[in-house]
Amino acid sequence: MVHVSFPYSAPVSQTLFDRAAAVTPGGVNSPVRAFRAVGGTPRFMVSGTGPYLTDADGREYVDLVCSWGPMILGHAHPEVTAAVQEAVARGTSFGTPGEGEVALAEEIVGRIAPVEQVRLVSSGTEATMSAIRLARGFTGRAKVIKFAGCYHGHVDALLAAAGSGVATLGLPDTPGVTGAQAGDTIVLPYNDLEAVNEAFHNHPGEIACVITEASPGNMGVVPPRPGFNQGLKTACERNGALFISDEVMTGFRTSRAGWFGVDGVVPDLMTFGKVMGGGFPAAAFGGRADVMGHLAPAGPVYQAGTLSGNPVATAAGLAQLRLLDDAAYATLDAVSERVRSLVTEALTKEGVAHRLQHASNMFSVFFTDREVRNYEDARGQESFRFTAFFHSMLAQGVYLPPSAFESWFLSTAHDERAIEKIAQALPAAARAAAAATNSPEATA
Ligand code: PLP
Repeated sequence: MVHVSFPYSAPVSQTLFDRAAAVTPGGVNSPVRAFRAVGGTPRFMVSGTGPYLTDADGREYVDLVCSWGPMILGHAHPEVTAAVQEAVARGTSFGTPGEGEVALAEEIVGRIAPVEQVRLVSSGTEATMSAIRLARGFTGRAKVIKFAGCYHGHVDALLAAAGSGVATLGLPDTPGVTGAQAGDTIVLPYNDLEAVNEAFHNHPGEIACVITEASPGNMGVVPPRPGFNQGLKTACERNGALFISDEVMTGFRTSRAGWFGVDGVVPDLMTFGKVMGGGFPAAAFGGRADVMGHLAPAGPVYQAGTLSGNPVATAAGLAQLRLLDDAAYATLDAVSERVRSLVTEALTKEGVAHRLQHASNMFSVFFTDREVRNYEDARGQESFRFTAFFHSMLAQGVYLPPSAFESWFLSTAHDERAIEKIAQALPAAARAAAAATNSPEATA
């Protein structure tokens, strides 16, 4: 256990959390929200505007989580809100095809060259689950390669050595996933092409696909080494497997065309979520037309959804994507660079060993002096320092992801005032990180 003091109480949030815990496992609907890794009371948010969130106790925070990525224009962006209101007024779900879903699909296909066809779903988990099923159906093979520390949603076959909440909570592989469901999953160390080639060598004709986060953000930000994604693509091509790039996090965030827009490696299938839903449940998978053609009703691989292509979600996503032009990404990159240098400056001043790693505007801090190339490196950091750092920032009105294994997210709404608030909070947070201890006597 780690010594951390919680400088402010949050009585209304605590009352809500107590109520929640009575009716919901752990008091939350997604595990990392519960603050288990950092302790203290999770903040129940009641509203958001631009880069700010306001909690149930009336305290305002600069938001560096942005709903774990989707809110790339900030909260309650007027044009997105207007598009949603207009769509809601026309009816919220029809269970028929609609023009909004065609327009959203056209926008995605228009932005990302390898995506010739796309299928809309409601969550990133559904997107990766369906892409894996399609890859298996297309190749007639069973095995899947994934990388330790990469998170692709809570798909049974992909939970082995997963990042995100599984890493945050230090969970072993999840009970409830049977040996049969996980038995065809081959987990390899990230950034290790040799291991990939060896796996193909050991399982000739058995591997349906390799799935990777295009640039991982779920073990903290650990970009692919130069040539890694291309190496995966080449290995797949040589061995008749499909290369699936999971862009649920990086898609429409790291550039106009996501991580594909950065490294240009052409996958067979890609998955999307987060930003493309504009804060609503919308996600997608897409890629080569000949592969997508195997999907029902065009082909035999079944996949469906009552709310897939929902008119409100597609209106929100389309409005958001249309506002994300080159200027928006230039703004995001510039803000990210400023915040990163402020964080480094503050931690360096206090002599705190750290690595600030980034992939375009996504970034995270590792409390270690070594480069983090994979999940093992990420787990080697002094995460107790993050806990102290996190609570100091929270107490000063800056809301960071409550885990040392998550990316921080910015929006185009993070303006001078928001950056100034972050800058003012950092020196005390860096001092707290420097003073943090991990000894059992210091347990709070
Ligand atoms: N893939 C990646 C890379 C993700 O980061 C996530 C969620 O964080 C998912 C898939 C799952 O998406 P969802 O939470 O919408 O199911």
